Amino acid sequence: MTELEFARCDCAHCGNHLEFPLELADTPVDCPHCGGNTLLLAC
Ligand SMILES: [Zn+2]
Repeated sequence: MTELEFARCDCAHCGNHLEFPLELADTPVDCPHCGGNTLLLAC
């Protein structure tokens, strides 16, 4: 079983918190809150 590590960042558009698996860091996604495209930055 693989346990994923999670990181958090803020959406560049709406400022809401995004939680994502660390392996998705530096990946552009559509924010689930505002739908804007934002880069997942591990911080
Ligand atoms: Zn957003």
